[in-house]
Amino acid sequence: MRNTKLRRCLALLCLALLLMAGCGMAPASATPAPAASPARMSASPPTELPEEGRSFSVHFIDVGQADAALVECDGHFMLIDGGNRGDSDVIYTVLKKAGADKLDIVVASHAHEDHIGGLPGAFNYATAELTLCPVTDYDSGVFETFKEYAEDRGGGLTVPEAGDMYDLGSAEVEILGLNAGEDTNNTSIVLMIRYGETSFLFTGDAEREAEQALLDSGAELKADVLKLGHHGSDTSTSYPFLREVMPEYAVISVGEGNSYEHPEEGTLSRLRDADCKILRTDLNGDIIISSDGEELTVTTDKTATEEQLLVPGGKSRSIAKPGAGESPEPTPAETEQPQSRETMVWIPKSGSKYHSDPECSNMKDPTQVSLSQAESMGYTPCKKCW
Ligand SMILES: [Zn+2]
Ligand SMILES: [Zn+2]
Repeated sequence: MRNTKLRRCLALLCLALLLMAGCGMAPASATPAPAASPARMSASPPTELPEEGRSFSVHFIDVGQADAALVECDGHFMLIDGGNRGDSDVIYTVLKKAGADKLDIVVASHAHEDHIGGLPGAFNYATAELTLCPVTDYDSGVFETFKEYAEDRGGGLTVPEAGDMYDLGSAEVEILGLNAGEDTNNTSIVLMIRYGETSFLFTGDAEREAEQALLDSGAELKADVLKLGHHGSDTSTSYPFLREVMPEYAVISVGEGNSYEHPEEGTLSRLRDADCKILRTDLNGDIIISSDGEELTVTTDKTATEEQLLVPGGKSRSIAKPGAGESPEPTPAETEQPQSRETMVWIPKSGSKYHSDPECSNMKDPTQVSLSQAESMGYTPCKKCW
């Protein structure tokens, strides 16, 4: 740090001397000096840029009942999960806005649709050097599509090992564990990102069994930010695990009024006991946490009170609990949901079926439209991929 400041001072001094010398030597001819000075000014900053241009942020993308986060460090990008199939366009837009057309790493935490479904949207905009996934095969059309995209645009699927480290600019990514159980959620890749003195722990949908395996492994789990496992389900974020992580911030990626009632009461009360600051995509919208290596800064789309953040999910909607019927006005939330998370499908130029897989039936130049659009245009679901 001190070195850089010293270097910068020297650089400025040199520049000043050069300018003065320039002026002194050729006061009449204005041309050489201005030509020389901008060149020097642009020549000196690059040595400082790595220090000056350092940046780190994690964008927890609001993808409803799903997971997606874009990590940026010094102009390097890593995408962890991509939401549901219908979130492809959201992911595409976020990457485009960030100018992230080259991703260092794409992480598919595990094979469930709410984590990999929207990754084709990422690969439609960007290429990736490396695509990490706990498995290379999984019996679903969504996985097949994701895998094909990863093979075309993401260097194929790589199964990492616990202890593997990757650089992301000046940040460090460490794989802490994966494939900790039979259940697909417990296959989740768990990783830690460290930037300066700050740290972020991502657990996919890992549940207690996987958390216990992490505790048993002796991995360093302390983190400033924890992306909660399995959308705040009570089956994740156990006391022993939370005690080890002791996060300042607990981020829950969850859909408003979801039918799973995530986040659950037990989880929220454990977070309260651990004195965590809770952030929820259903209440806060997009959440961006940036770090200067020491301090964290949180920006959210929407604000929510501490009280609201402690209310379990799904409760506001009687639709999730048919028969409960105490609330007469859950309809606005109901109609909002499909609009913001419209399912997208592929349609061929000629043909009558819509597809989840753009390469199904060798479609030529398929177009992506919303499911309701496809239906309104008279398309019917493909029996092979839908
Ligand atoms: Zn999930
Ligand atoms: Zn899952």
